[in-house]
Amino acid sequence: MIYLDNQATTPLAPEARDAMLRWLDTADGTGFANPHSPHRMGRQAGAAIDFAREQVAALLPPGGTVHFTGSACEAINIAMRGLPGDGPISVSAIEHAAVYETAEALGHRHLLNVAANGQCNTNQSLPQGTRLVCVMQVNNEIGTIQPTVEWHRKAKEENALFLCDAVQSYGKMEVTGADMIAISAHKIYGPKGIGALWVRHGLELDPFITGGRQEGLRSGTLSTALVTGFGAAAAAAKERMEDDAAHAEKLWTRAREMFADNWTLNGDEDTRLHANLNVRRKGLDVARLMSECRDVMFSAGSACASGSGKTSHVLKAIGLNDEQAKNSIRVGWGRYTTMEQLEQGVQTILDAANSQ
Ligand code: PLP
Repeated sequence: MIYLDNQATTPLAPEARDAMLRWLDTADGTGFANPHSPHRMGRQAGAAIDFAREQVAALLPPGGTVHFTGSACEAINIAMRGLPGDGPISVSAIEHAAVYETAEALGHRHLLNVAANGQCNTNQSLPQGTRLVCVMQVNNEIGTIQPTVEWHRKAKEENALFLCDAVQSYGKMEVTGADMIAISAHKIYGPKGIGALWVRHGLELDPFITGGRQEGLRSGTLSTALVTGFGAAAAAAKERMEDDAAHAEKLWTRAREMFADNWTLNGDEDTRLHANLNVRRKGLDVARLMSECRDVMFSAGSACASGSGKTSHVLKAIGLNDEQAKNSIRVGWGRYTTMEQLEQGVQTILDAANSQ
């Protein structure tokens, strides 16, 4: 099987696995300790969590606190639902469902327009009394990079707070300032089931999961294994960021050569992460393509949207009609994808598409 769906999730890095084993293994009888207990075993686990928190924070701006959560979806919900006050929430029209649907559920959602190249520009006004602006740094479906520094500035000028969903950018490029930042371990070769919310010092949120308040904002006993796995994955990403980007670039160049002729790129060519290729082809039957390429893992859109039968709101927001959106596929590679795998996987997709 060839895995070309690295925006949905990534394989576990050996560094993350090694870090986790110490806390899963019961050989010395201490790995299971409750990291919030004040006794010796608990303090050992607590120290491992403190260390991992620093590793995760090292890829984020200074001046904030990392709160571990069960996922980025949870981090986003804590941020959006925990913010006191009323008033419109402005979100880009290409946000992940975690932001897009939560803003809708909270009422007062205002959508920020996105241009055909996949860019949400700041040359548009915010509604009167906007309390929160949410613009993701890198889109999960089309990979385009958003002007989040400008959005942060604009939100500040209008007395609104700025939440950045950095799930697809964290560990791959510099994550720029915001009031709140959501991230997830499983997109950076860490384990599933753990994310984090970074909150700028001085910003108070109401906890919406109450209980022991282990993470301040979020109650629930932390898993030392998941947290240390996240920390080790973050440290590896920090160390390998340039190499990972150079590797992705090589694969991008080859994939672009292969998806030539009658394939059209969705989103900007350059202002995007070059590990995500979202392309369409007139008349392509994506469901048939996927069933004919069972050994190649790729996506018909975002992992959440594909399979739902719903047209991607992201592709529609950049001006594609229903048919064009349904003719689109997403192919994504990562640190462990070899050139051979990429070429073989893409060739399989092209052969199946050509025979339709
Ligand atoms: N935001 C973006 C941009 C994502 O790509 C994802 C995952 O697909 C999420 C949020 C949700 O992350 P998690 O799976 O940790 O809840």
